[in-house]
Amino acid sequence: CGIVGIVGNQQATSILVNGLEKLEYRGYDSAGIFVADQNEDFLIKSQGRIKELSDKISGDVHGTLGIGHTRWATHGEPSEENAHPHTSQSKRFVLVHNGVIENYDDLKNNFLSEDIFYGETDTEIVVHLIEYFANQGFSTKEAFRKALAEIHGSYAFGLVDKEDRETIFVAKNKSPLLIGLGEGFNVVCSDAMAMLEQTNQFVEINDGEMVIVTKDHVEIEDAAGNEIQRAPYEAKIDL
Ligand code: GLU
Repeated sequence: CGIVGIVGNQQATSILVNGLEKLEYRGYDSAGIFVADQNEDFLIKSQGRIKELSDKISGDVHGTLGIGHTRWATHGEPSEENAHPHTSQSKRFVLVHNGVIENYDDLKNNFLSEDIFYGETDTEIVVHLIEYFANQGFSTKEAFRKALAEIHGSYAFGLVDKEDRETIFVAKNKSPLLIGLGEGFNVVCSDAMAMLEQTNQFVEINDGEMVIVTKDHVEIEDAAGNEIQRAPYEAKIDL
């Protein structure tokens, strides 16, 4: 399973698909991407190999922001519906997740009604929960933070708000996730291998941190919202 994401000055689609191919070794049963520009967005998901996903991606898919996912199903059978990215009820929020949400049943019972769910994954609860808090008037960052405070389990998340098509919000706890720094773009990935063709400068994220990634800026915050400075390291891997 794995996550990739990019925001910046170049077309995202092929970078995401190539990145997902590099993560194939981690194992997966389905895959998907979300790509957006200012006016249009595209969500493509497929069961099976990355090849089956890329065969479904038509030439008109375009945009300079995107997130992608390979899924290793833990909750809900491998299917197109259960593949990530997952979307909130209004379709405003789009989320990819690696890991396991242990208290998803409690969260569902405490915050949400059964009829907004379209699939069986533990992940879907989180995207609905973020929208639940956003609908109460919280900013996306605050809504994400509020959702994270309710979650027990392991996660690497990549979140996009269609009302802000220049930002990828990420967070991690016990699942791998890195930020890669580029000139005029930034990336996120589960493993540096996925993005080595784009950059060799990576920043580690610690458990409990949230990162706000735009094309020229990476802001790391701890769970209390304090900004953290962390220097990148150079990834040296023989290709
Ligand atoms: N638990 C999530 C699911 O079953 C994520 C699995 C993964 O890490 O790929 O969809």
